[in-house]
Amino acid sequence: MTDSGEGHAAPPDPATDEEAGEIRAADLGRWLREFARLVRANRDLLTALDSAIGDADHGLNLDRGMTAVVIELDAAPRISSPATLLRTAGMTLVRTVGGASGPLYGTLLMRMAAACSAPTLSAEELAIGLRAGLDGVTARGRARPGEKTLLDALEPACAALDSALAEGTSLGVALHAARAAADAGRDATTAMVARKGRASYLGERSVGHQDPGATSMALLVTAAATSLGEPADSATAGAPGSD
Ligand code: ADP
Ligand code: MG
Repeated sequence: MTDSGEGHAAPPDPATDEEAGEIRAADLGRWLREFARLVRANRDLLTALDSAIGDADHGLNLDRGMTAVVIELDAAPRISSPATLLRTAGMTLVRTVGGASGPLYGTLLMRMAAACSAPTLSAEELAIGLRAGLDGVTARGRARPGEKTLLDALEPACAALDSALAEGTSLGVALHAARAAADAGRDATTAMVARKGRASYLGERSVGHQDPGATSMALLVTAAATSLGEPADSATAGAPGSD
């Protein structure tokens, strides 16, 4: 990554002013906490989506799991390596979420952990980690894109992140592209026939319903864009009070 600081209109953020692209464990912690917040805020939506084509527990499952993750992170504030933080969160999800989504999200984070051994991550290393997570989820769930699952948000997000970074964009811009791709992938699940998980029992009757797992996965990518990317629209983190 280039280290040009030119043209940045945003005021320096004392928490992240070192080097754009250096992602630390604390940054990943902010990402997962933001995901937990979004899951809580969307819990009823996720559960309503799952009530249409599943068993009405997706919001409850993920909220339980991410609440446990936040408790784990609070209890271990000194986790200093990305791998340890991701592994801790992934194991917590596997342990606390009974549904299909727990092992799948847990696998995503644990595979990311295995691929992210450096003490701080570059944008490229984050993308490599996320793709390793995608590969792990694919292997575990034996699903492919187009089968109306969380992969339909995760796979396009990884593809968008990779291609944006390959073009030399900043992490912030790349993550916002990933977010747009995840949202589009989520929306595309509405027209799909479910081929995996409980929704597959409905066959063609699953058409017309947005997949709950793709919906939560898009929230995970949104959380990454807002917590790991540059502040796109002012995070109002205490701008100096100039009336
Ligand atoms: P359960 O189906 O056990 O009740 P959840 O309701 O928490 O679990 O999660 C359902 C979501 O899990 C689905 O919307 C789908 O996105 C995802 N899912 C289910 N099976 C698979 C699979 N084999 N591969 C990928 N994602 C899957
Ligand atoms: Mg369910």
